[in-house]
Amino acid sequence: MSTSSESGPGSARPIKKTPNDFVFGKVIGEGSFSTVYLAKEISSGTEFAIKVLEKKHIMRERKTQYVMREKEVLMKISHPFFIRLYYTFQDADRLYFVLGYARRGELLDYLHKLSSFDEDCSRHYTAEIVKALEYLHGVGIIHRDLKPENILLNDEMHIQITDFGSSKIFKNEEGDGSGENNEGSRRNSFVGTAQYVSPEVLTSKSASKSSDLWALGCILFQFLSGECPFRGGHEYQIFQKITKLEYEFPDGFCPLARDLVEKLLVLEPDKRLGSDEMGGFEKLKGHEFFTGIDWDHIEEVQPPALVPYLPATTSNPEHCWSTMKPGLTDKRIGEILTSHLITEQERKERLEEQAKTNEYHRFTEGNLILKQGFIDKRKGLFARRRMFLLTEGPHLYYVDPVSKVYKGQIPWSKELRTEQKNFKIFFVHTVSNNDIFSIIYRYH
Ligand code: ATP
Repeated sequence: MSTSSESGPGSARPIKKTPNDFVFGKVIGEGSFSTVYLAKEISSGTEFAIKVLEKKHIMRERKTQYVMREKEVLMKISHPFFIRLYYTFQDADRLYFVLGYARRGELLDYLHKLSSFDEDCSRHYTAEIVKALEYLHGVGIIHRDLKPENILLNDEMHIQITDFGSSKIFKNEEGDGSGENNEGSRRNSFVGTAQYVSPEVLTSKSASKSSDLWALGCILFQFLSGECPFRGGHEYQIFQKITKLEYEFPDGFCPLARDLVEKLLVLEPDKRLGSDEMGGFEKLKGHEFFTGIDWDHIEEVQPPALVPYLPATTSNPEHCWSTMKPGLTDKRIGEILTSHLITEQERKERLEEQAKTNEYHRFTEGNLILKQGFIDKRKGLFARRRMFLLTEGPHLYYVDPVSKVYKGQIPWSKELRTEQKNFKIFFVHTVSNNDIFSIIYRYH
């Protein structure tokens, strides 16, 4: 395999770089065939993400084509919403891709932490992806593996799309687009990620620009609801649902976004909003959900702060305030704990009683249950009912009440914080590895 030592796109003359031009810092990510390091260019002090690929590993795994494709695409693109390739070089053992550093990491991490994004964030980030796809398709490239994991974020929280190993360059040198549906030798290879793959890739094994629009529909659904539209225990089940267009909107899904998702998740590729047959990107950008987006300056506007989506739903009526004092506030926790101060004898008796009569006793590691009750642990618009057990310790265990399976416990620490959202909903913020995780709960 050979890769020339060269400059990145747009440079006037090739500058030969070597690993000695950089100081390598921490590992910021690992792919199947690569390790990505944070590195500093000695001459300029600029930080880069350097993707390092072991030649032997790539050859052994027969991924040469994948790597070359990624390099070819990265060299072809130059747009603020894509990771920029600055230099490539190699030594005897490794290939080096010097990339712009997306300091804020993966959009997927934010989605995991918040479970979902509110309407404003979803609109903004969907619009950034639309703008990026418009550019990408315009230069003759189909991404084919668009998903929140492949959307990184720069310092200003704008998107930086990455991972072009599965991409396809469909425009030939004359730019006539004749290669769009020509999969050549790749016709039978499944490309992409199960949850986001379009039906035509599964049925006819051919991807077109419209396949990226399908993925866009899946991503918007996920932004607002917290889950992919097509889910299943294994890939086959997911594929079945995709080819049958079997998915449901959860209660509370924003109606305008729903209309857009329904126009993107269409089985026939040429009937998807945004496809050439349906009026192209201009039509897509004109959808009512995008009202208020400044398409000409979206690269410059400050993206809205990421916050979770908590709409009023039938099971969560925001208008239904009550005089009753809800909430597991610090004060309330203190009250619960101190109101249960008991003698050792009382404790022993109650523990014996608990062991005999309480089916959840076995999950509490011998601790006395002080309070228990059902709470819905939310992930986006989806809720999972759990039995919560507040015990001595203190511990806050939760158990699946149907399968009677222990699911976990909320780590109790000084940093544990609750926040009341409304009558029904509260957050529990916990800290792990210096990161704050916010879980949303609903009283049952
Ligand atoms: P695979 O090859 O298995 O699909 P991948 O495409 O995620 O994995 P890489 O492109 O090597 O593999 O990236 C590995 C991880 O490194 C990414 O998940 C991302 O978190 C991080 N990463 C990659 N490029 C950058 C970048 N330019 N800036 C910041 N982080 C990056």
